[in-house]
Amino acid sequence: MKIMKFGGTSVGKPERMHQVSQLITADEESKIVVLSALSGTTNSLVEISHAMSQSSKSEAKQLIEKLEAHYQQFIKDLLKKESSLEAAGKILQEHFEFLYIILKISFSEALNKDILAQGELLSTKLFSIYLTEAGIDHALLPALEFMTIDSYDEPQVGTIKVKLAQLIKQHGDKKIFITQGYICRNARGEVDNLKRGGSDYSASLIGAAVNASVCEIWTDIDGMHNNDPRVVSKTFAIEQLSFEEAAELAYFGAKILHPASIWPAQYYNVPVKLLNTMQPEAKGTTISAEAGSVGVKAIAAKDGITAIRVKSSRMLLAYGFLRKVFEVFEKYRTSIDMITTSEVAVSVTIDNDVNLPDIIKELEPFGTIEVDTNHTIVSIVGNEIAETKDVMKKLFDAIEPIPVRMVSYGGSRHNVSLLITRKYKEETLQLLNAGLFGL
Ligand code: ADP
Ligand code: ASP
Ligand code: MG
Repeated sequence: MKIMKFGGTSVGKPERMHQVSQLITADEESKIVVLSALSGTTNSLVEISHAMSQSSKSEAKQLIEKLEAHYQQFIKDLLKKESSLEAAGKILQEHFEFLYIILKISFSEALNKDILAQGELLSTKLFSIYLTEAGIDHALLPALEFMTIDSYDEPQVGTIKVKLAQLIKQHGDKKIFITQGYICRNARGEVDNLKRGGSDYSASLIGAAVNASVCEIWTDIDGMHNNDPRVVSKTFAIEQLSFEEAAELAYFGAKILHPASIWPAQYYNVPVKLLNTMQPEAKGTTISAEAGSVGVKAIAAKDGITAIRVKSSRMLLAYGFLRKVFEVFEKYRTSIDMITTSEVAVSVTIDNDVNLPDIIKELEPFGTIEVDTNHTIVSIVGNEIAETKDVMKKLFDAIEPIPVRMVSYGGSRHNVSLLITRKYKEETLQLLNAGLFGL
């Protein structure tokens, strides 16, 4: 059994859905096909939800109408048979009626999650109708019946495995299963999601749950590139990455993978392949236990970082001090990305500042607190990078004009991270591309 996940652009146009149908029928292996929403849909749903939360009902209604018109045209271009068009029309009616109805209900967080789930429900149901029209035998597996998260928003592979096996068993004769990425049910039984870009995470969790031979992530680029292609013009695809390297790149901002998407594959040892739907013959990137080579592989950047410095000449060297600082972050369930310490201060970074005011209040008794928002972590990732000759020299020579707020080196053997202000991000990525890759 293998997993094939297709992102928004891979299903965003009727001709792309046609390509996807060819890719999923190219071999005989049983497969679970995980689909995202059509490109742009989740963004539209976010806007609709936002308008509703601001009580801008007429704006929300206009946005829903625009989205509906897009889907009406989409099914006309996708399907030929009258019976398929009728079935697709019913699906659109069902989901858009739901959106119009909730215009009349008072907004809540649970409703927001329901709104965001419509994209994946629509894409999979329409794709299923398309496959039926094309005579491709398959079964639709509702993700809301097997993809669950616990009260800490953590998915549990064990539970997913049991529920998914039961569903698959109901369709014993099928070889192609279609399911939704991104959406899930939470511990309260409500519709929820795995956060933006979460379909990669769904695919990896499903791969772990069925012990898949491979988890293929099909997208709009030919694999993980050595630098962010949206920022740097000359980048190239990396053929092989270890799970550790890929996890660090995903966590530190390489948008091609959801930040948490590697751990299930790594833990259950399912190789991951990043492939290009528009260029299926390209090699792509293979992610497995093997790193392939030593040295710097890629650079990624993560925005929206807040740095917090606690200065305390009295207390820092006293044992137990760091524990007390970390306990504050633990209490507010806020994870720390980077840490540096000196004789008199400790600096940490966080990417979630929802609880920042409370965190600062609780840190204040420990010393002077300084907070810097709008920072970016730039991570240089590779195998045994810290032991590779001259890397640090080349790195700091390359970014000589950039003021660096923090450096993290030696924490892992695969990563050197720098903290800079957001405005230097583009320049830093370009300088590192030249200094470390000669591009
Ligand atoms: P999908 O909709 O298929 O999930 P995403 O837009 O989430 O696709 O991810 C693919 C995009 O990630 C690429 O088009 C590219 O712009 C961006 N990206 C950012 N960093 C990298 C990187 N290091 N390598 C490849 N793509 C990257
Ligand atoms: N549709 C969701 C999003 O746009 C999930 C995904 O595409 O992975 O974030
Ligand atoms: Mg994505």
